[in-house]
Amino acid sequence: MARGVHPKKEVRKALKQLRAAGWTIEVAAGGSAHGWGTAMCPYQHRGDAAGMSRCVQRILSTPRSEGDHANRLRRALRKCEQDVARSELEQSE
Ligand SMILES: [Zn+2]
Repeated sequence: MARGVHPKKEVRKALKQLRAAGWTIEVAAGGSAHGWGTAMCPYQHRGDAAGMSRCVQRILSTPRSEGDHANRLRRALRKCEQDVARSELEQSE
């Protein structure tokens, strides 16, 4: 399997959506058993952590359920887009 290509089909599809939305997918060097890489959104905005930050999602190489893992990534994308839409509204007020 080529570097940068996730072994799980469902996760691959989710990563494709993230990339299309401008997210950066960083593949972990060396490829540890569990952490495949990280996905970061292209915005500087309030994430789950306090302060301004990008959304960061850890990508597992061998999730217990690839469907759940893919859904978690898609949820993060949706939440990010909602946060961005909200902060743009606040700025225009
Ligand atoms: Zn975000």
